[in-house]
Amino acid sequence: MVNNSSLNPSFLIILFILSHLMSMAQKISNFLPRELLSLDIANRLRLDANAIELASRDFGKIVRIKPAAVLYPISVEDIVELVRFSYESETPFGVAGRGRGHSVKGQAMVHQGVVVEMTSLMHFGNENRVRVLKDPDFGFCVDAGGEQLWVDVLKATIQYGFAPISWTDYLYLTVGGTLSNAGISGQTFRYGPQINNVIELDVITGKGELVTCSKEKHSKLFYAVLGGLGQFGIITRARIPLYKAPKKVKWVRMLYHDFSAFTRDQEQLISMNDGLNYVEGSLIMDNSPPNNWRSSFFSLNDQSRINSLLAHHKILYCLEAVKYYGDDHYSTNTINEEVHVLLEDLSFIDGCIFKKDASYIDFLNRVRIGELKLQAQGLWDVPHPWLNLFVPKSRIMDFNEGVFVNIIHKQRKATGPLLVYPMNRNKWDDRMSAVIPNEEIFYTIGLLHSSEDDDWETLDNQNKEVLDFCKKTGIEVKEYISTKSSKEEWIRHFGSKWEAFVERKIQSDPKMILSPGQKIFN
Ligand code: FAD
Repeated sequence: MVNNSSLNPSFLIILFILSHLMSMAQKISNFLPRELLSLDIANRLRLDANAIELASRDFGKIVRIKPAAVLYPISVEDIVELVRFSYESETPFGVAGRGRGHSVKGQAMVHQGVVVEMTSLMHFGNENRVRVLKDPDFGFCVDAGGEQLWVDVLKATIQYGFAPISWTDYLYLTVGGTLSNAGISGQTFRYGPQINNVIELDVITGKGELVTCSKEKHSKLFYAVLGGLGQFGIITRARIPLYKAPKKVKWVRMLYHDFSAFTRDQEQLISMNDGLNYVEGSLIMDNSPPNNWRSSFFSLNDQSRINSLLAHHKILYCLEAVKYYGDDHYSTNTINEEVHVLLEDLSFIDGCIFKKDASYIDFLNRVRIGELKLQAQGLWDVPHPWLNLFVPKSRIMDFNEGVFVNIIHKQRKATGPLLVYPMNRNKWDDRMSAVIPNEEIFYTIGLLHSSEDDDWETLDNQNKEVLDFCKKTGIEVKEYISTKSSKEEWIRHFGSKWEAFVERKIQSDPKMILSPGQKIFN
């Protein structure tokens, strides 16, 4: 009989490690090659229930796909080693970079493969992964790790009085995640999406090669990766140009009941290249109140005034515009006069113009306040059946009547911000993978539903109804941040870009390893 108390402690530790490794080997061998455990990265691979659960979830809370393992890299080389191993293996497995998992339909998930928890890179301070520098050709710019949050890029660059020029509404998204989509907001009409504001990238291809690419160097890879839905490589660094940051913003909202006047005014504002710095728009209706998590702009007085207007007009349209000011470029003395001139010809409802001043940082980070409030109420971590679309300008009136009026307003199911604002096609670069409608002006639509009572399917069905309506009436929409259920739908989505997309995939990721959660090739 062995007396437990007489066992040597180091023997017990060895026994524990051995049994842990055996259990890892058992779990790994079910789906992944056992040799993975002999690599340097083995002790950064996690197979425990917590890690698997986290990587099987995203912001959408609709899809749940389990990986076999999760890599918590401490360096770019860790990711290179993982992808190269899969590429060289007889049975290659899927690998997905996961930023903040703020996708809504499992785009950063991978069935029985390995999820790379990109934000793990930022916790290892051996390297400065957000660095302001002066590029000989482009002047001031920032080198940001693909795992970095845009809010941290802002914090790092503003210390030098600089900032990137193109943003998303919400800053707690990763650089690699938004550059894999497009990265859009009210600044896009003037400065282009975030993908148009990149100088250079470091990318790990599906062959496990670390490549530096730009418009001049490995340009095919560069253009493919931007808006490339994670299909061509994992972005580990992006060089982004910087501009002198304004100190303040003049933030204005105007109300309309006539959609045609609303869109005419939006289009006039985005036609001016040195006018406003930001133009967006949204709907206000019963379940989509004037203030929501995207920002609490209106005072209580304003809100009651808006509510009495709503009693007369079933839907109000809110045009949101911003002009920067507060340094040499953006003058403080003349800002009121400048904004007055820019807005004086607009035809919003008489007197329905609301203005405020905010610091540039508070304006950019406006969504965070709403997020924290919802988190405190337990209402942030709920299902989000979102639908984001690009709609050609020529059909936006039909879209309003068919979707906003006859589906969304009539059904009274909407629960969240409903966005609608125009963009200029000429601010996008057609060589990139992102797909937009084939018209000079197109609208972005964001149906940003939250399903507080877990009834996400009702809203998801409404989204399907919206897509069906567009299909039946021939409105050629392009979906943004979505997945498709069949390859045929992806082919339709990419249209004339499909062949190039496939060719680039074969060159960069011939074994179809990367981001299988997008369901394009897998
Ligand atoms: P993830 O969801 O983790 O990943 C997205 C895709 O990119 C996956 O396929 C993943 O495999 C891949 N990926 C992740 N990291 C990398 C990398 N480093 N290299 C290559 N591929 C990678 N979008 C806008 O454009 N404008 C907005 O204003 C906006 N607002 C939002 C507000 C909220 C509250 C939320 C939840 C999302 C918003 N989005 C917006 C959408 C957002 O851009 C996408 O969710 C995007 O995927 C970024 O999220 P992420 O960093 O968490 O990436």
